[in-house]
Amino acid sequence: MTTDQSTSGASLCRGHGRCYDLAEDLLEDDDEGFVTARGQTIDVPPDQVADARNAAGSCPEGAITILED
Ligand code: SF4
Repeated sequence: MTTDQSTSGASLCRGHGRCYDLAEDLLEDDDEGFVTARGQTIDVPPDQVADARNAAGSCPEGAITILED
């Protein structure tokens, strides 16, 4: 695996904040506590793949999907 991608479902995020707490170098929150990457596909650097997987696994709404190359 060289790169992963994660995408956050815009309609699923409820702002629980678990994802950006676990992947603070990858994800950020907006002023209302929602992850700013809602509805976007982002590239995950190889050294942050574990954080991305933890973030996806922690989301109680299932809003983050890991896409494999
Ligand atoms: S953990 Fe899930 S619901 Fe919470 S901010 Fe992240 S994507 Fe949104």
